[in-house]
Amino acid sequence: MSDGGAVLPRRPLGSTGLELSVLGFGASPLGGSFGAVDDSVGIAAVHHAFRRGINFFDTSPFYGLTKSETVLGQALRDLPRSELVLATKVGRYGHRPADFDFSAARVTASVAESLARLQVSYIDIIQCHDIEFGDLDQIVNETLPALAALRSQGLVRHVGITGLPLEALQYVLDRAAPGSVDTVLSYCHYCLNDTTLAAAIPALRAKGAGVINASPLSMGLLTRAGPPAWHPAPPPLREAVLAATAHAEGRGHDIAALGMRFAMRQPDVASTLVGMYDIDLVDKNISATLQALGLEPGSGAEGADADAVLGEVLQMLEPVKDLSWPSGRPVP
Ligand code: NAD
Repeated sequence: MSDGGAVLPRRPLGSTGLELSVLGFGASPLGGSFGAVDDSVGIAAVHHAFRRGINFFDTSPFYGLTKSETVLGQALRDLPRSELVLATKVGRYGHRPADFDFSAARVTASVAESLARLQVSYIDIIQCHDIEFGDLDQIVNETLPALAALRSQGLVRHVGITGLPLEALQYVLDRAAPGSVDTVLSYCHYCLNDTTLAAAIPALRAKGAGVINASPLSMGLLTRAGPPAWHPAPPPLREAVLAATAHAEGRGHDIAALGMRFAMRQPDVASTLVGMYDIDLVDKNISATLQALGLEPGSGAEGADADAVLGEVLQMLEPVKDLSWPSGRPVP
């Protein structure tokens, strides 16, 4: 469905048979991860996104400690279930090491809880959330088999893994039983300051996984408002991004629009999930996507020399290119 104009393209997600809108709705902001959001504003954003062609919605029990799932569930019950691709997660329930639990019993109970909060009878993609905080061998030997059992029962349709270190994702894919990992979600690794996902994609795909890119704005780092207090970016990266943001601003461009323009041109991911919570952000990101893909002309300063300024910003970020931060346990 679309409100007219260019239609958001869809791409296949690995061998799942699912077709995802190239822009996906990241629902962590609905849980308040980036500041308080009124439920009705978030629900209107989800409805608007669907009307404009977004069919992929991603959440987790962790986002807002179940709030994101609850609000998303309220929004989705008004939409046709068979036209939605709904992804959520298991295993992460807070920030402390004790808040991770990838045991078969916990993830099985977790799926039941998510189904209730989301008000659905099945989940399209269930993902192990931030696997690097768990024991990767437990994910392979216990968590994935438990999720496969839920898949056979029809409670979930596909199984995935998510995390920051690309080596952790590859470690699990290399050891998991064939067909047990349908999707991989990587975040903060395909954006203006970090493109390490691109080189990892062939090996991820070789194991049969469909690839999802998340956090194209590096969890708010690449926005005028700047990153949230909890953002883990090291100081040199923050400083370089601040300078690039000011430069873009001086040239009449919003760093976030440039960030979306850049990320949405990655052709080898099925979808890119950006965090959104209101109608305005949905419209902005759909426009940025259509313009990035050459499906909609840009207007005024935003369109005319966006690529030139994008090139300047990329050059300014070159000294901190691919600079990341530690996450979870070392990969064995
Ligand atoms: P993001 O890079 O999408 O940035 C989100 C922030 O940018 C929010 O503050 C949002 O309000 C703001 N924003 C979005 N579009 C904007 C625009 N056009 N202009 C200005 N500001 C804009 O980071 P994210 O939300 O962390 O990632 C997107 C989604 O990906 C998440 O909501 C989640 O669904 C998923 N994700 C999953 C994992 C995981 O599984 N481990 C990790 C990160 C993200």
